[in-house]
This record gives sequence, C-alpha cells and structure tokens, in this order.
Amino acid sequence: MARIAFIGLGRMGHGMAGRYLDAGHTVAVWNRSKAKAEDLIARGARWATSPEDAAVDADAVVTMVADDDASRAVWLGATGAAKTMKAGTIAIECSTVSYDHARALGRELNGRGLIYIDCPVTGLPDAAAAGKLTLLVGADAADLERARPFLEPIGSTIRHFGAIGSGTVYKLINNLMGAIQIAGLAEGLAIAEQAGLDMQLVLEAIQGGVAASPQVLRHSKRMVARDFAGATFTASLRHKDAAYAVKLAESLLAGQPLVARAAVEAYAKAKAVMPDEDEGRMIELVSRPK
Ligand code: NAP
Repeated sequence: MARIAFIGLGRMGHGMAGRYLDAGHTVAVWNRSKAKAEDLIARGARWATSPEDAAVDADAVVTMVADDDASRAVWLGATGAAKTMKAGTIAIECSTVSYDHARALGRELNGRGLIYIDCPVTGLPDAAAAGKLTLLVGADAADLERARPFLEPIGSTIRHFGAIGSGTVYKLINNLMGAIQIAGLAEGLAIAEQAGLDMQLVLEAIQGGVAASPQVLRHSKRMVARDFAGATFTASLRHKDAAYAVKLAESLLAGQPLVARAAVEAYAKAKAVMPDEDEGRMIELVSRPK
C-alpha cells in the first residue's frame, strides 16, 4: 500500500481523504484548522503539523484547498509540501485554481523533479466521499499513467484533456457555464414569482423544458422551496471560479466575454453578503421578500 499525504479537509477534501483510508493506504492529513481532521485521525490517519510534515516519505501528495493563494501556500509556502517531497513524487492538485496558477505551479514542481498532475474535479461532496468524482486531468500521458493508482480511489471517471493546465481550462469553462445558468435561473424564477405564477407549475414546466440542464434541475427545486440546507458549493467559491474563467477568456477572446462578466458581477454581490452560504441563495438577492 502507498503513503499518501492529503492536504485540505473541507467539504470535498474530507471525503476524498477518507477514500484513501478506505482503500488501505497509509494517510497523513493536514488542514488549516485541525477540527476537520479529528474523525479521520480516529480512522487511522496521521495528523501532520504542516503540509511539509505530511509530505515526508509520501509517494503522492494530494491537495484540495480553496483557491490560488491557498494552493500556493500549501505547496510552496514556508511550510509547504514541496519542501520535503523527494524527486519523482507525484503531486496532484485537485483544487480549482486559475489557469496561470496551474501552469506556474506545474513548472515550479516539475523543476524540482516532481511529477505534477493538474486534476480539478466535478462532483458534489457526496460524490467525493463515495470516490465517484470525475477527474479533469492535464498532464503528460506517461505521468498520468504513473499517477493513475493514486487517482483511482477518488475518481470513477478520468478525462485527460492534454498538457498541464488543460484540465483546469475545462473545469473553469464548466463552472463558468454553471455560474451563468444559476444566476439566470435565479432571475427567471424571481420574475415568475413576482408576476404571480403558480411556482409548482413553473417548476413542472422547467423540468420538462429545453432549458433543464442538470444544474437547472437541481437548483430550481431548491430555489423555489428556498431550501438551502447543507451548503454544498458556496457563493464565494462559485465567484472565484467564474472570475478565474473570465480572466482566461480575456486572454483568449478579444473583447469578450460579456455574459461571463455579468455572472461574475452577480456572484460578487452574493459573495459580499453570503460568502459561505449555498450558491443557490443567489435568488434571495434578486427576488422581492415573500
Ligand atoms: P471548503 O469546504 O470551503 O474548503 C476549503 C479548504 O481550503 C479548507 O480545507 C480550508 O481550510 C482550505 N483553505 C482555505 N484557505 C486556505 C489557506 N489560505 N491556506 C490553507 N488552507 C486553506 O471548500 P470545498 O467545497 O471543499 O472546495 C475545495 C476546492 O474544491 C475548491 O477549489 C472548490 O472550488 C473545488 N470544488 C468544490 C466542489 C463542491 O461541490 N464543493 C466541487 C468541485 C470542486 P479550513 O478548513 O481551515 O478553512
């Protein structure tokens, strides 16, 4: 069995780290706040005092943290994992980061003799805990083959888009399209409510209609019911992803993107008032009080 260092035990990372324990690996865990590690420690994980400590003797280091700053800190900071990783160790970044960051981090870690796998994911926290994430990989093909045994416990599907950074490109467009759909749905439902439509009928029509993506199906029910129990993806993280996507679009599509910028603006408002709440609560910003 392998030695895995797992860093970042938030909604997603906690379940992913548990999958390595379930698979029988020796797991060292670190999180900025230790409380989220307690049950994993009880299940046999070693608590590391820093990312650097977690990475000692690891065969693979996997990170799942919020954003570019957090990723930089846990890999390259004063007590970052890269300090103790030996040449040839596999570095798997699962956090959703910006394209520039993914490529810069890949260059930096490759330069230190490490094997870097750009590996953002799709799937909610329940899929993370069940090992059923889709892994969006950007990596050299031979490196992916070396990393595959370390990806299997967390993902049921691996999509290899190409070189380092390409997994992140896909992840950012995926989440940008989600941001646009959710922000548009909130406005559509708020208009229907304000116009006095029967919202159960509206829901029924949405579910059988052409605009019903899985994202719309899921959020329309929650928004109409104003049932946001158990935040799975926060307004703050959705804003971050859309903003990273817009930055990428600005470098590739002259004069664009218009719709994407509107989604970032909508999520900036949501982030300002409800950063850690479920992204679907966006509807509360556009609807009139009931
Ligand atoms: P989360 O519950 O908010 O967890 C964020 C994690 O990042 C926590 O472990 C947090 O530590 C850590 N962190 C934040 N800032 C840090 C810093 N400066 N230094 C070190 N650690 C830091 O978020 P999540 O939902 O698990 O998402 C994690 C990543 O997965 C994000 O990149 C997100 O975009 C992506 N993602 C999420 C979903 C989803 O459905 N939730 C799906 C796909 C991808 P503390 O616990 O100490 O705060």
